Amino acid sequence: MLAGCLLTLVGPAACSNATGQAPVEEQLQVFDSARAWKLLENLVAIGPRPAGSPGAEQARVLIENQLSASGLHPEREAFEVDTPAGRLAMCNVYADLTASEGAEDKAPIVLLVSHYDTKRMEGFVGANDGGSSTAVLLELARTMAKLGGRRTTYRFVFVDGEEATREFWQDPDNCYGSRHHAQGLAASELRARVKAAVVIDMIGDKDLGLIEDFNSSPNLLACFFDAARAHGLGKHVAVLKEAVADDHLSFKNVGIASCVLIDLRYGPNGTNAWWHTTEDTLDKCAPESLRMAAEITLRGLRKVDDLIHKSK
Ligand SMILES: [Zn+2]
Repeated sequence: MLAGCLLTLVGPAACSNATGQAPVEEQLQVFDSARAWKLLENLVAIGPRPAGSPGAEQARVLIENQLSASGLHPEREAFEVDTPAGRLAMCNVYADLTASEGAEDKAPIVLLVSHYDTKRMEGFVGANDGGSSTAVLLELARTMAKLGGRRTTYRFVFVDGEEATREFWQDPDNCYGSRHHAQGLAASELRARVKAAVVIDMIGDKDLGLIEDFNSSPNLLACFFDAARAHGLGKHVAVLKEAVADDHLSFKNVGIASCVLIDLRYGPNGTNAWWHTTEDTLDKCAPESLRMAAEITLRGLRKVDDLIHKSK
């Protein structure tokens, strides 16, 4: 469990010296938002990528190629599941960035999760919903793998089947991939080491504004939002307060502290008019939002790391 007083956390610089991790500032220099944007363009160019489709397989290959190029070793986690749309073949892709030598087998594990499937809808390409977080997570994997050591193992999980197969969201017709991965972890010997799951979703909107989600672990979400506020990104977090249903619930349901970094305010004038419509296209997104989401994630992860190692 995560526990601890955020007020007692040490700063990033002190933390870096003590733990051998690269300073966040260095990570931010390596993270390339133009590269993340190119990945997003490539995902969108595939076209619709709903679970069980040829587009989803193309997205998996792209994800695997990128993870391999970053020096990671992607694994496929294939499964079949009955859905209202029939029995579908789904497949998660994940890769571990292991803790530094000597700690590989016992280090705490933090999951970083994005769904790569898109809404089952004619002509829906999911630039923001499915595309943006996947592109950012791939570039975060490259960044984190390139720099320094670490005392936490990070598992990058690209989950399939987050979207409901029907037009509406009704359990259990959603979050198929994250549920499969969470339940697998819960039954594995890794379970005791898994300390947190951080889901990112819909972070490409030009007007980025993350939600304060009531279903997220408050301690965990505070790591990211406090980090944003401390670095001039405060206006991009906690713009709305509501309960969000997303992949983080799959991890919460097996007792893993989890949160979601998501912007559901995706449309003109603060509406969500583009969400789950064919209007979810690249022109509504911006590289700068990908960069800000990455910064909030990297800075917040350092606070999460501090909390985990303080409570050990
Ligand atoms: Zn969606």
